[in-house]
Amino acid sequence: MKEIITLEMKSNETKETINWENFEKLLKTIENHLKIEKSFDYLGIGQKLLEKLKEITLSLFDYFNKEEINKIVIERNYGFGEEWSKSIDLSFESGANFGNSIAIPIAYEFKPFLIDFWDKELASKPGRIFRDYMFRTYLAIPHEFVHCLQSKTKQLDKSPQNWIAEHDACYLGVAFLNWMHKNLPVETKNQLFPIDGFFEELILYSLDLAVGLFNNFGNNNTDFLYKNWRDSFGFDYPNDDDPNVVEGVPFYFKSRLGIEAFFDETNLFQTQINICFKNRTGVLQEQKMNIPKEILIDSSKSDLPILISSLKEEELKDFYKQIKNEI
Ligand SMILES: [Zn+2]
Repeated sequence: MKEIITLEMKSNETKETINWENFEKLLKTIENHLKIEKSFDYLGIGQKLLEKLKEITLSLFDYFNKEEINKIVIERNYGFGEEWSKSIDLSFESGANFGNSIAIPIAYEFKPFLIDFWDKELASKPGRIFRDYMFRTYLAIPHEFVHCLQSKTKQLDKSPQNWIAEHDACYLGVAFLNWMHKNLPVETKNQLFPIDGFFEELILYSLDLAVGLFNNFGNNNTDFLYKNWRDSFGFDYPNDDDPNVVEGVPFYFKSRLGIEAFFDETNLFQTQINICFKNRTGVLQEQKMNIPKEILIDSSKSDLPILISSLKEEELKDFYKQIKNEI
């Protein structure tokens, strides 16, 4: 490690430095607090984000119709609560009602088998579903908002799993979040991201999720399919009957693209939105696109395995050991 952070925490009551044992207790208390139902207002978070996304879109891009954009609302994804509907019930949905609805799943209402499925198959760490869904709400609302814009501009994706539309939503969802984090005035940002460091924590969550899915679903075959999809800007997508695209793989691809797009940081938000929306309507497969090289993800920099290799476990262990010795 090049740099070691020294951490000192003092008890409010005794004013004494907290030792490692108490620090672990504190972490457990926080973890348990996150398991309390209704700690997070998913719909409220979604509402605030949506209002800001509408404002940004209308102020920066004059080709969107104001009246149409303002029709988009946040709703609840009630789900079906059945075994067959697990993936649907866990998802954020959009596109219903002529692209006017973004539906948020309420994790407090999930049945135990659904929580079990999330924990075992998709979560990066089990037992944190309420917190996971708070972070997922932040990541999903800009993504679903992009789907609404696709609907408003009458874009139609004829691939079975909407691979092109999904590509753009993952890629631009992160671009919206990044733009908000970098450009909104501090007071507005404080309303959206509740505490200092929250945005960074959100990105760490997103990275953690992608790494977990990479460990579950990453192999030579899925890697080949993923890179074709990413590097063709969504156009070269897997066949629907491809045996490698099992349940969970599309979620892995989307999570991976989101985090790679974040670390790519092109700072070309307006170009990214214009490429995907300006004068783009109708069946997406039928249109040739001229993608400027600078907005494609630079895989020599932000390919997920490269990001993972920069998080060397041994170094992290050393880091924690040092923290432990310090307190
Ligand atoms: Zn989507």
